[in-house]
Amino acid sequence: MDAERCVGSGMCVLTVGEVFDQRQGDGKAIVLRPEPPVETRDAVREAVDLCPAAAIFLSTDRRH
Ligand code: SF4
Repeated sequence: MDAERCVGSGMCVLTVGEVFDQRQGDGKAIVLRPEPPVETRDAVREAVDLCPAAAIFLSTDRRH
């Protein structure tokens, strides 16, 4: 999760709240579970797709 890109929309928290939360104050997302449980994988992928800032990366997606 790239906090620089995050615009604090909260979509990730709404989509998979057991993996993401938002910081008090600026509302930027934080990752609660860097290695999400298998049962949340589909929801995490959905969160990646829904993030308006493209700020969430799955480790298999990261190219750098
Ligand atoms: S969906 Fe994206 S922009 Fe919105 S809070 Fe989560 S990481 Fe930030």
